[in-house]
Amino acid sequence: MTHFNVDCLITGAGMAGLTAARILQAQGLNVVVLDKGRGIGGRMATRWTDNDAGGRARYDHGAQFFTARDAAFQTQVDDWLARGLAKEWARGFSGASGQPQHDGHPRYSAVNGMNSLARDLARDLAVTTNARVDSISPQEQGWRVRRAQGDHHTAASILLTPPVEQSLALLDAGATTLADDTRAALERISYDPCMALLVELDAPSRLPEPGAVQLRGEPLGQPLVWIGDNHRKGISPDAFTVTVHAGPEFTRAHWDAPHEIIAQRLLQAANDWLRVPVKRWYVHRWRYSQPVVTHPDACLFTTQPAPLAFAGDAFGSSRLEGAFLSGRAAAHLLLNR
Ligand SMILES: Cc1cc2nc3c(=O)[nH]c(=O)nc-3n(C[C@H](O)[C@H](O)[C@H](O)COP(=O)(O)OP(=O)(O)OC[C@H]3O[C@@H](n4cnc5c(N)ncnc54)[C@H](O)[C@@H]3O)c2cc1C
Repeated sequence: MTHFNVDCLITGAGMAGLTAARILQAQGLNVVVLDKGRGIGGRMATRWTDNDAGGRARYDHGAQFFTARDAAFQTQVDDWLARGLAKEWARGFSGASGQPQHDGHPRYSAVNGMNSLARDLARDLAVTTNARVDSISPQEQGWRVRRAQGDHHTAASILLTPPVEQSLALLDAGATTLADDTRAALERISYDPCMALLVELDAPSRLPEPGAVQLRGEPLGQPLVWIGDNHRKGISPDAFTVTVHAGPEFTRAHWDAPHEIIAQRLLQAANDWLRVPVKRWYVHRWRYSQPVVTHPDACLFTTQPAPLAFAGDAFGSSRLEGAFLSGRAAAHLLLNR
């Protein structure tokens, strides 16, 4: 089946793709967003499991909280705060010593898990999940996008928001050639991986206020960078759930290790902050967790061979705010050209 007449096809329903889609659609463009995931949100990820008591155990397992430094993102955050979708969680987290390190700057969280903010951004948009893009090829006046299911879209312009290595693979699969300097700029971008351990405890964790520690991790010889209590954050009222993130060195060294080994090592490292019997755990591997080498501009736009923008947290500033600003910048460039 072929779907025609899309002004802009966006690959990726994370923060960058959804932000861009909202702006483009508000300006009257016909926009379609495709995401390979079962749900939307990308790294704004929240997992639910049923627990023994008939309630739900909930975990934010990608982004844990967010900050707002730019006025445009603050406006978005203020809207979420006003509608009760987000709240201020803290003004800093404890380090390894357990002493709070407040810097006066708000850290926000989503009241119902990070993913609920992605679902809010996706309202009224044409977003299709379980829709893996396989290849992107130039054609006369735009692009032809092939999906894994075999059907096609045609689009006047494309916005790519997956991790850049994956975006380049889609273009390669469609025999799309980029200018040498564009390709070189994109190939410079790189990401760290992150191993996440999701743990349900029998009783409340012993994490200090506000229910999380941000750790230096590997320079100090221990593998953890974050332990966050989802129950204390408020997203898991029915279950004592904790999210543990390992640093990139541990993650790379254990990428192919059995889950039992990963869980055992990370639980051991987190023991001082948990000290409660563990009911169950899950391991999640983030291959592209956060960018380490970013592109200096908020997005990269080219018209060769046809209008094409790259956006996401690897463009401009990183993290959720960076992804928002990047999606916004890409939308404005696509509109202006
Ligand atoms: C473990 C971890 C902890 C983090 N902690 C924080 C934090 O505390 N605070 C913070 O601000 N940020 C944090 N981040 C970073 C933050 O989550 C990201 O910066 C932000 O979510 C990136 O949004 P994005 O839209 O650029 O990319 P993504 O959210 O990755 O969206 C890209 C989307 O593209 C889709 N996709 C990829 N390939 C295809 C394809 N072929 N076809 C269709 N769809 C495709 C993916 O499924 C995905 O949904 C964390 C990230 C991780 C992984």
